[in-house]
Amino acid sequence: MTILNILQFPDPKLRIRAKPIDNLDEKLQTKIDDMFETMYDAKGIGLAGTQVDFHKRLLVTDVSIDKDEPHVLINPVILSTDGIVESNEGCLSVPGFQDDVQRAKNIIVKYLDRDGASKETEMSGLLAICVQHEIDHLNGKLFIDYLSEAKKQKVRKLIRKLEKD
Ligand code: ZN
Repeated sequence: MTILNILQFPDPKLRIRAKPIDNLDEKLQTKIDDMFETMYDAKGIGLAGTQVDFHKRLLVTDVSIDKDEPHVLINPVILSTDGIVESNEGCLSVPGFQDDVQRAKNIIVKYLDRDGASKETEMSGLLAICVQHEIDHLNGKLFIDYLSEAKKQKVRKLIRKLEKD
């Protein structure tokens, strides 16, 4: 397995809209394994293809404490949402910054698992938040896009400072 390079804001490649996957071949299975290794290594709870410069609709998550509940979502679509929840989010592509973002509390999401089986799953809690965050990545959207202009300025300043150090 390989640890992949994670794109960092403001890399313009983070704005690419990922394309649907129509072939679950061996190469894709390798990519999934590499994405899990990369996510666990970076101590993240989710990773979208977009973040590792793979612009296909694939995301992996594991929000469990013991890191033993991996989920693979291929071509995920949110069918319905319910409620609103605010949570403090961070992102492996925006290191060193966290802020509160509003998300749907519960979602029903349709996707293919890594074997190509079609699933329709109700998700809540941290998993629902994480999946919404990762689907945003597949659409070229970052959690900081939801913040006020003043807060976005703060992020840009922070990134410039990190780049200088
Ligand atoms: Zn992220």
